[in-house]
Parts: sequence; structure tokens; C-alpha cells
Amino acid sequence: MSIIKLSNVSKKYSNGTTALRNISLEIEPGEFTYIVGPSGAGKSTFIKLLYRELKIDRGSGKVAQYDLAKLRRRDVPMLRRSVGVVFQDYKLLPKKTVYENIAYAMEVIGKRPREIKKRVNEVLDLVGLKHKIRSFPNELSGGEQQRVAIARSIANAPKVLIADEPTGNLDPENSWEIMNLLEKINLQGTTILMATHNSQIVNTLKHRVIAIENGRIVRDQEEGVYGYDD
Ligand code: ADP
Ligand code: ADP
Repeated sequence: MSIIKLSNVSKKYSNGTTALRNISLEIEPGEFTYIVGPSGAGKSTFIKLLYRELKIDRGSGKVAQYDLAKLRRRDVPMLRRSVGVVFQDYKLLPKKTVYENIAYAMEVIGKRPREIKKRVNEVLDLVGLKHKIRSFPNELSGGEQQRVAIARSIANAPKVLIADEPTGNLDPENSWEIMNLLEKINLQGTTILMATHNSQIVNTLKHRVIAIENGRIVRDQEEGVYGYDD
């Protein structure tokens, strides 16, 4: 059974811009999928619908066991437990240490201190940054900050990890390091959905490719290619 399923989903912003039109797709558990397309195509809007940053206004959508159209506001935190999110600009809390940034994601869902401590060490080990546990975000390089953000996103063992341009601010070497991590997380069973403009990555590390243009899905390929010149 699919872990993400959208049927005829549309999204219009309040200013009248239709960002997505009749999007239907299914993603199976454990898949790694790239979302590609020109700037303004609707990729970010698509991703925001999946973790309920935005509400779908037509059609239906399911992520893990949650119905996106029916989910009540008070149940959004439960959805976010099943869906980890990583952004281009990391979005770490600047006044918290690496430890605290990750621990916080677990505290808000009521995990016990002992479990938090164990898990924070575990995910930092996975991303190779245990030695930075006491650092603040501004003491880390961009690549390191993104690795902490990834550690935080998987702290609660989400079924789905969504990444919006995770390598957008990184040089090629750091970008590949991030991809190695996402690959590792995917191999451990997490479904990954990644919006990207990085043609090198898409064309080298082959996975399913879904292309969006003008709010519509125009291509859906197994082991696909990037397909644009930018
Ligand atoms: P992408 O991520 O592919 O660059 P977006 O999802 O950000 O595309 O944008 C899709 C369309 O929706 C664009 O036309 C964009 O200008 C518009 N859009 C994005 N965010 C908003 C918003 N908050 N209000 C109005 N229009 C928006
Ligand atoms: P205990 O009281 O069991 O010794 P602590 O809370 O003092 O546990 O933390 C032990 C280790 O956990 C620290 O050495 C560090 O690696 C990590 N740790 C716990 N809290 C923090 C924090 N706020 N900032 C950085 N590291 C922390």
C-alpha cells in the first residue's frame, strides 16, 4: 500500500495564483523520489501540502495514515511525527546547541529525557557530528548545519523524510555528503521525497523522478533524469 497518495489535488493561493492543478500520484514505502521542475512550477507548494504547512483545497491526500483534507489542527503534530522535513536554509534554532536542537524535536512530543539523550547521540553518530554536540549553529559550516538538520528530522524515526532543496546552499562536496546521508537513511527504510535543482545529483544517483511544470505533473520516470538545462 502506498505511503503517500494524492488524488486530483489542487492548490490556489489567496491572491488567485493556482500553484497546483489536479495532482495525482502514489509513492510506495521505501521509495526515493526526486521532484524537479522550473522555478515557480509548484514544487515547494507540493511539499508544503504533504506536511500540512498548507491545506489542499481540492482533491484528497494521504501521508502515512493521515488524511490531509480531514486532519484537524490539533492532529498536525502527529502527522509531523511521521514526516521529517529538511530545508535549504537548515532552520536550526540559533540560540540552542546541536544537542538541544535535536532534543527539542523529541521533547515537544513528550519523549523521556533518557530516551532523548540516547537517540540524540545515535542520530549525531549517524551524521558524523558527535563531536559538535555542544556547538551552536553559527559555529558550524553550512554542510555541518544541514547534517544536524537531517539528524533532527529523523530523531523521531519518521516514515517519510521530505527535503526541499537540501543541497541548494552547499558546494558539490558537501552536497554529495548530504546525499550519502539521505541514501543511508533511505536504505534503512525511510521513504524520501526531495525537491532539487541539482542535475548532477539526479543524473548520477538514479531514482524515480517526478517533474512538475505549471502546477502539473508532466513526467514520472523510474530511474529518471533531471531533464532541464539549468
Ligand atoms: P517552486 O517551488 O517550484 O519554485 P512554488 O511552489 O514556490 O514553486 O510556487 C508555485 C506558484 O505559486 C508560483 O507561481 C509562485 O509564484 C506561487 N506562490 C508560491 N507561494 C505563494 C504565496 N504564498 N502566495 C501566492 N503565490 C504563491
Ligand atoms: P548525566 O547527568 O547523565 O551525566 P548530562 O545531561 O549531564 O547527563 O549529559 C551527558 C552528555 O549528554 C553530555 O556530555 C553531552 O554529550 C550530552 N548533553 C546533554 N545535555 C546537553 C546539552 N544541553 N548540550 C550539549 N550536550 C548535552
